[in-house]
Amino acid sequence: MDIAAILREVRESVGRSADRGAVANYIPELAGVDPGHFAMSVVLADGSQHSVGDAGVPFSIQSVSKVFALALALGRLGDRLWDRVGREPSGLAFNSILQLEHEKGIPRNPFINAGAIVVTDAVLATHAPREYLGELLGFIRTAAGDDDIHINQAVARSETETGHRNFALAHYLRAFGNLTNPPELTLGSYFHQCAVEMTCDQLARAGRFLMEAPGMPRLVSPDRVRRINALMLTCGHYDGSGEFAFRVGLPGKSGVGGGILTIAPGRAAIAVWSPGLNAQGNSKLGTEAVEMLARRAGWSVFG
Ligand code: GLN
Repeated sequence: MDIAAILREVRESVGRSADRGAVANYIPELAGVDPGHFAMSVVLADGSQHSVGDAGVPFSIQSVSKVFALALALGRLGDRLWDRVGREPSGLAFNSILQLEHEKGIPRNPFINAGAIVVTDAVLATHAPREYLGELLGFIRTAAGDDDIHINQAVARSETETGHRNFALAHYLRAFGNLTNPPELTLGSYFHQCAVEMTCDQLARAGRFLMEAPGMPRLVSPDRVRRINALMLTCGHYDGSGEFAFRVGLPGKSGVGGGILTIAPGRAAIAVWSPGLNAQGNSKLGTEAVEMLARRAGWSVFG
């Protein structure tokens, strides 16, 4: 398989697309990102890496960080985490508050905002936010094999000033006894976690631990890798998760910065970035690009 040729073909195809989606603007600092960017990077099971486009340009990973936070939380708390967060797709927007009242403050899954806030709160426990963020960055840097990965403070500040829905979710969780820290402490950590910046090259390498291939970094047990992948497939794109599974057939986690980390188990870790989003807040061209790549490469978890 000529992966470099496939990547070139994907880039040409998305380059012809007239509709690139809309850049997220509810976080003011992200509203100014150029929607013209496109990058894709693939690490294969033999360890080789292949990239096209702006694969060396850092972008805000936003909710892709929820994968790393979950891996950290499972390592720290093990299955006790599941007392506080479920494992069902929500079928609702990433920042919806609707189910929380019906389901008594237990978020559906760790990848919607409410669930991710609980995960951050659980890892934070009694530690200072600075320690949690240091640990998370350490995890991501180890996964990527690259220390040049940082938090964009301006993006974190921007979301802190405008993150009213997340404050609503956090206070609601606290009212149900499912937030142990003061909402502003947990959210401070959560907003900084979302503001981690990475390039597509770095993100693809950071996804290697989810590939379950020999020679890849082993940061969590194989059992947990499978579970994280299962959640990425069923919940990684919010109310667009079914559509992503249908079209791409691989576990993936998106972020409103326009990045998607996708895993072809045993075969590849794929990062894509195109800042314009579809109606569900997932990268529009990014989704089309991984769909095309998966089809050309013949990758699917369904055989
Ligand atoms: N920081 C964003 C938020 O909490 C992350 C959302 C996303 O990437 N889908 O709203």
